[in-house]
Amino acid sequence: MTNLKTMLSSLLSAKIMLFFLLVTLVSSLIVGETLTLEPSPKNIPEPRYDMHRLEKLHRSNRWIQSEKIRIYCGWPMSTYWPRIKKDFSGNFFEFLDKVAEAGFNVALIGDIGNWNEKDWSASFDCPATAALYARLKGLRVIWHMGYLYRKPAEKAAEEIGTKYGEFMTRTGQVYKACPCPLDEKLWQDRFENSILKALAWEKEHNVRISCGCHLDVEPQCEQEECLCNRCFSGFLKTEGLDEQALPKPDERFAYLTDNQLLEDYHLYLSERLISILTPLRERVLKASGRPGYLFSFYPGHVFDRAGWMCRAMARALGNAEAPVLLWDDAMYWNGYTGSYKHILKNQEAMRQYLGYEPLYLPSIDYVLEDIRYPTYTPERAAHEMYLLNCSSPGTFCFGEKARGKTVWESHEPYWPVFKEMNERLLKNGLIKSIGLHTPWFWERMKLQALKESVDQRIRTYSAARESKEKKLKPNEAGNKP
Ligand SMILES: [Zn+2]
Repeated sequence: MTNLKTMLSSLLSAKIMLFFLLVTLVSSLIVGETLTLEPSPKNIPEPRYDMHRLEKLHRSNRWIQSEKIRIYCGWPMSTYWPRIKKDFSGNFFEFLDKVAEAGFNVALIGDIGNWNEKDWSASFDCPATAALYARLKGLRVIWHMGYLYRKPAEKAAEEIGTKYGEFMTRTGQVYKACPCPLDEKLWQDRFENSILKALAWEKEHNVRISCGCHLDVEPQCEQEECLCNRCFSGFLKTEGLDEQALPKPDERFAYLTDNQLLEDYHLYLSERLISILTPLRERVLKASGRPGYLFSFYPGHVFDRAGWMCRAMARALGNAEAPVLLWDDAMYWNGYTGSYKHILKNQEAMRQYLGYEPLYLPSIDYVLEDIRYPTYTPERAAHEMYLLNCSSPGTFCFGEKARGKTVWESHEPYWPVFKEMNERLLKNGLIKSIGLHTPWFWERMKLQALKESVDQRIRTYSAARESKEKKLKPNEAGNKP
């Protein structure tokens, strides 16, 4: 009876807690307040990932074994926004100072994609000067290639179905945001317009800036799988099924589930994607001249949304010497303490799937504007980042912008606690070094000279733009009496 009473009272208190949680959520949505994560539970044991598991890493990647790969990324690291938004506060170089001071060892800098297809070099100068600065600070750099596909609606409407194949959803509709993820040309164009150009630029200037490249496939993953004519009839053919009996677009998903073929379909899509990506990896390795060059992508889902795509990318773009960096976001808003079982499960699943030790990297999104998700207090963010680093060969530390604050103000409170977090990893023997490696004298001179020439070009563009704007102003004023 005592047990029953205890059970009833704990059920009641759980209900009360749930009620208060809902009230907080609803009221915060009504009044627009930001949700904040409370201090995390202390009773979860500190994990300790065995770094010896990474013994097969290529010698150029051995630093990961002693330093872990602790990547700082997020809005402060995107040079795209400062280029288009004039109200972006905080100098990009000052953000990089903070990243280095806080003791991260890798900066994900981007993007180097084709935002401005007409003049790629002009678009590339901003991330290039940032990357050169990061290298001079001793940070390692990963180029962010941007999204696999992201174009203004008008441009996308023009290209999808003509230049690139259509992406067909489960309901038989054409997905207007991006083309079929198994269109070879789509992948080839993205690689051509970003990483291959960036590597050619490094080669031209005889410098080594990046240790890897990163790609975002989130829009593709939103839709689970493509059911377009090409994907679907390819599957029917491979399975020895009647190609002539191709179901109507809105009946294809039901066809797969009714015949218990969904898993086979995903397997087929994975194999196709692997065959598209394998030669692209070869091209990048050849262009970089480095067999240990790293590939990374987001989201690194093992089972969730479009897991077939993520597993295929992990297999095609990596090996035991240079595994793909898998950016898992499942713990974005509950950290290690809310996701530790998920982390262990996913690490092991990828280990089994790949047949070697994966670079499975959990992450948090510690500050953001969207009130549907909570923002971490600085202490909680640092605590979770510490535990995530203990649990894995490294992490992605991601942040956006707080509501009503500038990007600079949003991140400022977190730098001191992130510094303590990285120092604690060192003090407790989780890493052997913080990992900042300032280049040698001659290398430094070369990087500085290159940076100066890039900066000079940026000054020229800016001056030209300003004078163009000044010329436009009198007309504007003239129109308004
Ligand atoms: Zn398709």
